[in-house]
Amino acid sequence: AVILGLESSCDETAAALVRSDRTILSHALAGQEDHHRAFGGVVPEIAARAHAELMTPLVETALADAGMTLRDVDAIAATAGPGLIGGVMVGLVTAKALAMAANKPLIAVNHLEGHALSPRLIDPGLEFPYLLLLVSGGHCQLLRVNGVGDYDRLATTIDDAVGEAFDKSAKILGLGFPGGPAVEKAAKQGNAKAVPLPRPLKGADEPHFSFAGLKSAVLRAHEAGTHRPEDIAASFQQAVVDCLEDRLEYSLSRIDPLGALVVAGGVAANDAIRAMLQRVAERYGMRFVAPPHWLCTDNGAMIAWAGAERFAAGLTDPLDVAARPRWPLDPDAEAVRGAGV
Ligand code: ATP
Ligand code: MG
Ligand code: FE
Repeated sequence: AVILGLESSCDETAAALVRSDRTILSHALAGQEDHHRAFGGVVPEIAARAHAELMTPLVETALADAGMTLRDVDAIAATAGPGLIGGVMVGLVTAKALAMAANKPLIAVNHLEGHALSPRLIDPGLEFPYLLLLVSGGHCQLLRVNGVGDYDRLATTIDDAVGEAFDKSAKILGLGFPGGPAVEKAAKQGNAKAVPLPRPLKGADEPHFSFAGLKSAVLRAHEAGTHRPEDIAASFQQAVVDCLEDRLEYSLSRIDPLGALVVAGGVAANDAIRAMLQRVAERYGMRFVAPPHWLCTDNGAMIAWAGAERFAAGLTDPLDVAARPRWPLDPDAEAVRGAGV
C-alpha cells in the first residue's frame, strides 16, 4: 500500500509518500526557522499560518516527486496530535479534505507514535517489543514498545523535556535557534570538564528524568561571566549524556531483557547521545537502532510510516476524528503520575 503522510504539529511542515514495503517514495519538508528565529522560539500563530501556506504545495511536491497522483495513494495519514493545535488542525483538515475528495481512508496519527515507529521504517529487522528512548522538543520518555498503539511508559521527565533543555540553554548562551544542533556544534569546540554542572536525579531510586535544574545551572554559569559559551555547551551536553545514561541504566537493570535499544525524536540526532546509547546497548547485549539524522527531527515520512503500520493493522479513522493537543502514548501511566509527568 502507498500512504501519504502529513506533519504539522510544531514548526516543520512536511508531506511524504511511503510504501508498506518501506520504500520512501518521496518526502518534502519546509522548516520554519526563519519565521521564528527573531522570537527565539516557535510562535504558535505564526506557525499555524505558515503551515496553512506550505502544506498544499508540499503535498503537490511529494506527489510529483513520486510520479504519482492521489489516485495512486491507498490512505492518507496526518498528525492529529499532540502538538500546537493550530498547526495540527491545518494538517488534519488538509488530510480530511484530500481523503474526502479522493475517497480514500483517513488515518489520524499520534505524532509520538510517528517518532516511536520511525526506526522500523529503516530497519526491517526491528521487531516488537523494543525499548525506546523518546527524546524530543516536548518529551523525554522511556517506553516499552509492544506493538502498534501499545506502549508501556517506564519513565518520563518530571519537568523539562530534553530538547527543551537544549533549546533554552542555546538561548541563554546566545547560540541561536533551533538550539539542539547549535549546542552540539558549539560543544565540539569546548571542554566538557570545564564547567561543573549538576546531574539531576542521578542515582535516584526512581526511573524518571529531570532537566530543569541543569538549565538553571547553565544560566548561572553563563551569568558568572567566567566561562566560554563553548565550554558551557560542552559541559551541558555531557551532563545530559550522563543523566540519560544513569536513568537508562536504572531501568535496564530492573526490567526483563529486550532485544533492541532504540532512540527516536529530534534529540536522537545528537551524536554524543547516540554514542552513549550504543555503549549502553553493547553492555546489555542489545542491538542499538537509531534512525538517520533527518528521520529523527519532525518529517512526513515517519507519519506516513506510522500510517502504513496502522493501515496494515486495519486501523483507519472517521472523517470527523478530532485533533488532540494532548495525546499520551500510554494513558494509564499518564493517569497515575498526572499531567506533564
Ligand atoms: P515533540 O516531538 O515532543 O512533539 P517536537 O516535534 O517539537 O517535539 P522534534 O522535532 O522531535 O520535537 O525535535 C526537536 C528538538 O530536537 C528540538 O528541541 C531541537 O533542539 C532538538 N534537536 C535537534 N537536533 C539536535 C541535536 N543535534 N542535538 C540535540 N538536540 C537536537
Ligand atoms: Mg521542529
Ligand atoms: Fe517531534
